Amino acid sequence: MSLRVNLDKPYGQRMFEAHRYDAYKELENISVELGEQQDSYEVLADRLSKCCADIDKIEERAKLEKENGQADVSSCFHKRCELLKLLINAVSIILRLTPVMKSRAELMTGALSSQVGRLTLQAHTDRSDLAARHMDNECFMLNLSWNSLSGEQSSKIQRSQQVLAENWHKLNMPVEGCDCLQCTKRLHLEQN
Ligand SMILES: [Zn+2]
Repeated sequence: MSLRVNLDKPYGQRMFEAHRYDAYKELENISVELGEQQDSYEVLADRLSKCCADIDKIEERAKLEKENGQADVSSCFHKRCELLKLLINAVSIILRLTPVMKSRAELMTGALSSQVGRLTLQAHTDRSDLAARHMDNECFMLNLSWNSLSGEQSSKIQRSQQVLAENWHKLNMPVEGCDCLQCTKRLHLEQN
């Protein structure tokens, strides 16, 4: 399933999908490059930080489409964008300060790309945004945890680690009060 932009869709939806694809692809590329060590960790950490601007673009477009009555944006959308930015920054800081964590950063950046991919303007139906549905299923099966680092760490790393530990699982949990398809699916799982 490709996240590439579907040219048959209305302009606003296409713009949203283009921003989503850019953020998704950049995170995926960074994850791959972390594995291949083509660039320095510093450069990759910088590129990670810049992905937050891509998330802002996704959110701005969603807001605009909602205002124009062209999108069904979930009430969890903003919170998930905020969590994504928080986590991207935390991974970036850890990578900058502790390159030894590279393999976990690689894994998490890859997982964050899928989390970006499940952002959708179709909160209550998954029929017209098949790419988001596919990404959502991928995230649904992910079970990653950010274990604590061993040994003495600087307070900055400890703080970033805390952000990851506290917020990572929230990305994959239903947001309270949200009735979108993705949250409902997770809510059912929690109750069963
Ligand atoms: Zn939701």
